[in-house]
Amino acid sequence: MEPSLPALPPVDEHHVDRRRYPDGVAFMDGQYLPMSQAKISVLDWGFLHSDATYDTVHVWNGRFFRLDLHLDRFLGGVERLRMKLPYDRKKIESILTVCVALSGHKSAYVEMICTRGSSPTFSRDPRQAENRFIAFAVPFGSVANKAQLERGLHVAISETVRIPPKSVDPAIKNYHWLDLVKGLFDAYDMGAETALVLDTNGHIAEGPGFNVFFVKDGCLTTPAFGMLPGITRRTVFDLCAEIGLSATAADVSRAGIKGADEVFITSTAGGIMPVTRIDDAAIANGQVGPVTRRLMDLYWQKHDDLSWSTAVEYP
Ligand code: PLP
Repeated sequence: MEPSLPALPPVDEHHVDRRRYPDGVAFMDGQYLPMSQAKISVLDWGFLHSDATYDTVHVWNGRFFRLDLHLDRFLGGVERLRMKLPYDRKKIESILTVCVALSGHKSAYVEMICTRGSSPTFSRDPRQAENRFIAFAVPFGSVANKAQLERGLHVAISETVRIPPKSVDPAIKNYHWLDLVKGLFDAYDMGAETALVLDTNGHIAEGPGFNVFFVKDGCLTTPAFGMLPGITRRTVFDLCAEIGLSATAADVSRAGIKGADEVFITSTAGGIMPVTRIDDAAIANGQVGPVTRRLMDLYWQKHDDLSWSTAVEYP
């Protein structure tokens, strides 16, 4: 006889025993669950074929940062992958908010996912799959730890080429990470802490979970091709426009980035994070530069700005 699993009752959004949700809260198949119970079938194409799209937004001091931009990117990806969500934008926003509120986390990493799901008849036709929406809120995490944020990261440029945009459109945020993980192992082998990988033309593309910028003579440059158009990258452009700094998307060569005055990476997981060493050489004098510091400060200040952030109402 098959062991029967206890069915979890649907959770009323307003009457929840928060002690059941110590580390984080997920939403899937119509229920809010403790993180440890959020599991998908191994038959889900999201798992079997990486056939999924997702987005990650963060909450800082109890406020979502630029949630609208993350929802735009997520919903755009879902549409372009020809998936269908069982909920509209407003409901998704409410689910994300409830996940954060139930988790109690004032600083959270919040993910929304749509997987292809699977077909009830095990059909190989993706049109017959029942797409699945999942969301969760866990404690905020960063690409760079405290020490790395203070002294700057050591990054290595891997020879690995990021999957071409003609194969997988990087604007559809995805879990195709075999190239990025290979890049990370290359970086560890070179004694570095994280990696940059290349685009199909041999220029710098991005890293595992982040975009990259360099500063030369007061002007900022970031790769234009082969990378995810990150929301933090976009935020850097917005901040630069506000304070009158020039920021351009263009091809970035190895020599260009290594000869920069300053380098930093950007991600929802950590914001703007300095890089002070690439491969075996320091960037300029090896210290975190003034443009990077100024943008880091401004970036975190914007988290209290009502036009850039949305409050979470905690129970
Ligand atoms: N590039 C990749 C491959 C990513 O996975 C991410 C974030 O997860 C980024 C760039 C940065 O994007 P964002 O600033 O929207 O977090």
